[in-house]
Amino acid sequence: MMNPLNTIDAKFQEMVALVEAWVNINSHASHQRGIEILLKEVEKAFSALHPESMERVTLGKGQALFLTKRAKAPIQIYFGGHLDTVYSPQSPFQKATYLDEHTMRGPGATDMKGGLVVLLKALETFETIPEAAQIGWQIFLNCDEEIGSIYSTAFIESLASRCQLACIFEPSFPDGALVSQRKGSATYHVWAKGKKAHAGRTPEEGKNAIYPLARFITQVAPLTDFSKGILVNVGVVQGGEATNIIPDYAACDLNVRCDTPESQHALDSELRHFAQEERLELTRISFRPPKPFDSKTQSLFQELKSCASQLGIDLKWRASGGVCDGNTLAAKGVPTIDTLGVRGGNIHTDEEYLDLRSLCERTKLTLLFLQEIARGKIKL
Ligand SMILES: [Zn+2]
Repeated sequence: MMNPLNTIDAKFQEMVALVEAWVNINSHASHQRGIEILLKEVEKAFSALHPESMERVTLGKGQALFLTKRAKAPIQIYFGGHLDTVYSPQSPFQKATYLDEHTMRGPGATDMKGGLVVLLKALETFETIPEAAQIGWQIFLNCDEEIGSIYSTAFIESLASRCQLACIFEPSFPDGALVSQRKGSATYHVWAKGKKAHAGRTPEEGKNAIYPLARFITQVAPLTDFSKGILVNVGVVQGGEATNIIPDYAACDLNVRCDTPESQHALDSELRHFAQEERLELTRISFRPPKPFDSKTQSLFQELKSCASQLGIDLKWRASGGVCDGNTLAAKGVPTIDTLGVRGGNIHTDEEYLDLRSLCERTKLTLLFLQEIARGKIKL
């Protein structure tokens, strides 16, 4: 039998075509019609894995795709990814183009439609080898990751207890380094209610909603502490209509990031305290715990590194302030590698590009990693 690793290069054109087709379908989390079209395409492609079950799960206002195979196999792995992107249907950035023979520019090409194709092709090839019987898997593909997995987090948590390893196909850093550790992240919506009045005629009847919110913002901004890895960002502020109207409503959205559950808890308390002092309403919209680089995860990264070196890749890793569903799984105690997807850059901008060479490279890496696990050479 031909070494399965040697069959990957021949799939290059097919992989590029798949990425291009999926990139050309707008799948912003709010764009239900686009999500529906992409879900159908992804279902068709992933049916090649002959899953034992493949279902759509409705989670709040979100949809997701859930596939399983060999639930009784001795080794159980979670494979994850997301179908949504950050580009709205109104964005001018909608289609894939080619900057040169190695580079596709396109919305979601790297984050993470390229990664979905890597997962598909690695697993499709893995399924052809006899050792595949050793590994059972579940694949979970959500459509709300870019909005904080607000609908799907609980479902992801519920899957964690069934698996010994989680592999997520988010992009690596542009230089190919993986993400080791991730900060925790929480997003809040804070708003003030006042009373509307004419600013000149009846000012004593009004209550300005912007002032308490502004005081709150000046309290929370200094919580940023680079030396402790604490980041606070007030990113959106709304309020007011005109200078001659006392505003009755003001609101802001802010995000906080930090490295430990303790500081995440402390920050949460401080925000609530400041909000209470100014009589503001506060709700937490999304929450992801920090993803530590513990010893179990470190040894898995070492195993992956030795797989990479067999393929001639010098694999490195470093911490990131970005978050993903890997945070959720790791916090449930599952050793998680969450950047097994493609190499590329400028994600979340109109310059997002994918290094097409990484499609085969990363597919081989995942395939070899799974082979070594199935053969018992890597112990989970
Ligand atoms: Zn992503």
